[in-house]
Formats: sequence, C-alpha cells, structure tokens
Amino acid sequence: MLNENKKGKLFVISGPSGAGKGTLREKALNDIKNLVYSISCTTRKPREGEVDGVQYRFITHEKFKEDIEKNLFLEYAHVHSDFYGTLKADVIRELNVGNNVLLEIDVQGALQVRKKIFDAVLIFIAPPSIEELEKRLRNRHTESEEALKIRLNNAAKELELKDGYDFIIINDDLERAAAELRKLIESQI
Ligand code: ADP
Ligand code: 5GP
Repeated sequence: MLNENKKGKLFVISGPSGAGKGTLREKALNDIKNLVYSISCTTRKPREGEVDGVQYRFITHEKFKEDIEKNLFLEYAHVHSDFYGTLKADVIRELNVGNNVLLEIDVQGALQVRKKIFDAVLIFIAPPSIEELEKRLRNRHTESEEALKIRLNNAAKELELKDGYDFIIINDDLERAAAELRKLIESQI
C-alpha cells in the first residue's frame, strides 16, 4: 500500500531501443538527489559486462511466470523477444520512504503504470530520426543483426505512442537532452 503522507514521485522513461534512455537515465541518477532507480526483472540473457542485480535481475521464464501468477509485478510486458517487469514491492518501498523513483520501461509497461499510479510522470525519449537511431544501435555493438532488426521494426510502433506521454524529450545533443530531463524531473519533485 502507498503511504500518501510520505509519498515520493514516480517517473517513467520510455522510448525505442537506441534512443539513449540508458545513457540519460545514468546522468539523471547521478545529477538528481533523492532519485532512485528500480531494477527490473528480465528473461533476457545478460550482455557482456552486465551483472545480475545491477542492470537487471536476470531470471528464468519459469520464475517470471511464477511471479506473474503471484501478482508481484506493478507492470510487465513482452518486449522484443523477452519478458521484462517491475516488482511492485520495490517501487512501493522507495515511494513510501519519500524517494522519487525512476523506471525505464517500454511503452506497454508505461501505460499499465499510468492506470495504477495516476500521478506518475511519463517521459518519452525520442531519437532525432530513425536513421540516427539505427546508427546508434549499430555503434553500440550489443545486438545481433536479427535482434537489431526486431528493435528497429518495433521503434516505428513505439514512436507512434509518444503522444500519450506527458513529456517528450528529443535526444539530439546528449548534454542538452540530459539538462532538459534534469530540469523536468526537478520541476516535478
Ligand atoms: P537505449 O537505452 O535507449 O537503448 P542507449 O543509452 O544504450 O539507448 O544509447 C544507445 C547508443 O547511443 C549508446 O551507444 C550511447 O552511447 C549512444 N548515445 C546516447 N545518446 C546519444 C546522443 N545524444 N548522441 C549520440 N550518441 C548517443
Ligand atoms: P534492453 O534489452 O535493451 O535492456 O531493454 C529492452 C526494452 O525493455 C527497453 O525498451 C526497456 O525500456 C524495456 N524494459 C526494461 N525493463 C522493463 C520493465 O521492467 N518493464 C517493461 N515493460 N519494459 C522494460
């Protein structure tokens, strides 16, 4: 249950893969006091350098299904080719001690959060163009050609949903976009 007296604010960022969400998230977490990140669960395999419990909790499909059945997720979705979800208990614990919480989740998850936490602030991170998005994803060297195609194909659909968000930030110049995100979050706290 949420404690209405102490409650922190919930911020959600979404956007297509390669838009720069992870990069902007790190900057926001470094720059903004009282902002904590909620680590998601995923069935995706860790990328090189990713550590269980840091970027994600890497869990099996079986465990993910069990947690869905136990109603442990605030939201979850099948994204690209895996399941991703936010644990309810993690978010409520932080909000109840007055921390502001940042989620970086896909568009399906963001819409589920909106229905459950009415004052959540939904922020869409958009790339300057699809061409630039593809360039960034390729330069990141984290996806196979097949995974990259899935992500680019999904990008067009995700971009169509951006008008359902409270705010849209175009990640053109990184420092400019990071400053805009910081200003926006600080103005809502
Ligand atoms: P996402 O988390 O949305 O998938 P990332 O944060 O991993 O995206 O960014 C994708 C790639 O683009 C990374 O290699 C990152 O360093 C790079 N990147 C992020 N923002 C910018 C920017 N404004 N200009 C150029 N490259 C960027
Ligand atoms: P990646 O595999 O690149 O880390 O993430 C793929 C996509 O899954 C991104 O759009 C990311 O925002 C989304 N994602 C990460 N965690 C969650 C989560 O807990 N819930 C939902 N719905 N999406 C998530």
